[in-house]
Amino acid sequence: MRERLIALVIGLTLALMTGTALAMPERLGGTLDTPGNHKTLTLPAAADHSPVISLGTAVDPQTGKVVEGYAIVHYAKGGNGGGKPGSGSPLYAFMSKGAKWKTVEPWLLNPVNNGGLPYDEFDPGNNTYGGPSFAFGNLSYDIGKWEDATDGTIGNGVSGKILGDAAETFAALEADLVTPDGSNEVYFAGISDSGAIAVTVVWGIFGGPPQGRELVEWDQVYDDADYTWSTSGEAGKMDFENIATHELGHSIGLADLYTLGASEQTMYGYADYGETKKQTLESGDIAGADTLY
Ligand SMILES: [Zn+2]
Repeated sequence: MRERLIALVIGLTLALMTGTALAMPERLGGTLDTPGNHKTLTLPAAADHSPVISLGTAVDPQTGKVVEGYAIVHYAKGGNGGGKPGSGSPLYAFMSKGAKWKTVEPWLLNPVNNGGLPYDEFDPGNNTYGGPSFAFGNLSYDIGKWEDATDGTIGNGVSGKILGDAAETFAALEADLVTPDGSNEVYFAGISDSGAIAVTVVWGIFGGPPQGRELVEWDQVYDDADYTWSTSGEAGKMDFENIATHELGHSIGLADLYTLGASEQTMYGYADYGETKKQTLESGDIAGADTLY
């Protein structure tokens, strides 16, 4: 709770410094889903243990454009990833050069989880909850880090706007593996691929001239079947802010890095229990957001 408070103070300070208000949740009173009754996100079997899974093409319902989908899977550990030490190349990578958000879209979170993340105003006696959840506040805060990096400098009071405001919901959400549905959805579920901590799905235009490329949808799933989650980097748990900050890098168009020289960057492709170093953006992450936006 203390870490939470510190994060909130930092977030509010950042908001005051940058002159932007933190996204405030749509406050819902409601009854929690039944814990333990979660669905599983089933990834294509042929792609087992692939960090980037092609989902093929589909028509985006919002724009009518033909778009491509990818599921990007974040695995635990993995040693050095089989990569080579970095050799002066930029410490960032794009999913596809120029594929970025050109419109600001809202997103939805269903915060119900079996992974131990807390809900504010949770009344266990009545199983009711007034929100917002830890996950909601933290995701909003983490999005702010990427938006703050779009001018190449963190904490200078200049911040772009990439992803829109959000709301919490108890409605069932779906990461779209076949076709986008026009809604950017985040939730907790089991993930079929063992070792997968989280999956970010992105749909967009990744081919053709770079100026014609764009992102049109993102969904995100955090595995609460195989992992318990921490708000403070506890041993034996996945730190939510550590993983979420990385996953949101995919939401804005950045790809994973697997070279040894990139192991300290937030977009490094592997994570581990108790790890917190991805909470803060590093030089390559900042340069990537700056170059793309
Ligand atoms: Zn990743």
